[in-house]
Order: sequence, then structure tokens, then C-alpha cells
Amino acid sequence: MTEQSKEKLSRAVEDYLRAIYKLEERGQKISTSALADVLNVAPASVTKMLKRLATMNFVEHEPYYGVGFTPGGKKIALEIVRHHRLIELFLAEIVGVPWDRVHEEAHQLEHALSEYLEDRLSQLLDDPDTDPHGQPIPSKDGTLVTRHIQTLASMKEGTKGVVAEVDDDDGDLLRYVAQKGLFPQAEIRFLQQEPYGGALVVEVDGKEQSVGAEAAQHVWITPEGSSS
Ligand SMILES: [Zn+2]
Ligand SMILES: [Zn+2]
Repeated sequence: MTEQSKEKLSRAVEDYLRAIYKLEERGQKISTSALADVLNVAPASVTKMLKRLATMNFVEHEPYYGVGFTPGGKKIALEIVRHHRLIELFLAEIVGVPWDRVHEEAHQLEHALSEYLEDRLSQLLDDPDTDPHGQPIPSKDGTLVTRHIQTLASMKEGTKGVVAEVDDDDGDLLRYVAQKGLFPQAEIRFLQQEPYGGALVVEVDGKEQSVGAEAAQHVWITPEGSSS
């Protein structure tokens, strides 16, 4: 897809493509209800937009998985994600915006970023691999390193790992997670979970912390012994 045709896409189309990408990245089923949830819109609007995206040849129906990207749709989604995450990093590192606010700001700015500015930003930031939340930034040609990550909530007692990334769409969650020291690269040892679905007791960079079970589902860990 050329730059020109991408620039004709509406904000709504771009938001949908990024939301679909996000679900796919997390290995979640891309259903109407999941998208309605993520985008905070009515299921009927999702159904309508999915039809439009299918007509534009960006998505197709996949048995058991809801919808999935066509190769062309995936390429554009990767570009949108690249814009979003580069802007987040720019805002955090150069402008000094706190990490719990960059997502919201980037969401507004991502639609306006030209290919020229994208390249300049990437250069300025030394062609970065990850955004302030540890999420991978697709390269210019749309490649991404495969990572083997799991949620903090799914770790087994006594196992170790390193924080890979944190879900970035909830500012309150990010502030909470920051209080616990759960930034990308923090070293983790999962000690135990309190009974009846209670808090997780976790060593974070050598310091014992208790982390709410729900929050632990949004913190992603590279387990010890895993290659990346
Ligand atoms: Zn974001
Ligand atoms: Zn992010």
C-alpha cells in the first residue's frame, strides 16, 4: 500500500486496524464483542465497520477466530502501530510526558504523522525497538521480533523472569504498576499468590511487593531461560 492510499484512511478505520492488531498481538479472539469492548462502541457499529474493512480488503472472516487481517491489512496495521509507538517514545523521552499519559496523546497524534516525520522521529530516537511500555515497535518494513511472553498472573510459584511490557491503555493501571516498580526490564521472582484469588506476592528487583491479581494480567513477563 502506498503512502498516498494510507493517508486517505479515516481515523475510524485506523483505530479499528490498531485495535484488531492489539487483540491479535495478545492472542485474543477478534470478535465483535471484544472489539466493541476495546473501542468502547456498540457491537452494531463494529459489525458495520468490519463489513467495510472486508470490502476494503483489510480483514477477512476466519473460522473460530472471528476476523483476521489480510496481508495488506496487516501491513497497514503494522504501520499505524509503528507510528503510535514511535510517538509514545518521543513524548516520553524528548517531551517528558509521563508514561501513563503518552498512550492517550499518541492516539490523537498518530493519525497526523507523515512518512517523512516518522523517519525523522525514528532517527532522532536511534531506531528504537520498544516503546515506553516495552511494547515492540515494528520496523519500517513491517517486521517484528517474535517474543515469548506470558502474564505475571500466569507465572508459576518460584519462577523468575523479566518484565517485557505492560498494557498501556489504562493510565490508572500504569500508575499502579509504576508504584510497584514493574517497569520493562525489572527482574521478577514470583513467590506466591494469596489464597482465593488474592494478591500476588512478587519480588521486583529484589524488593517484595504485593500486586493485585487483576493488574498482574496486564504485566507481561519474559520467563527466565526464554531467548528474548
Ligand atoms: Zn499506546
Ligand atoms: Zn505503549
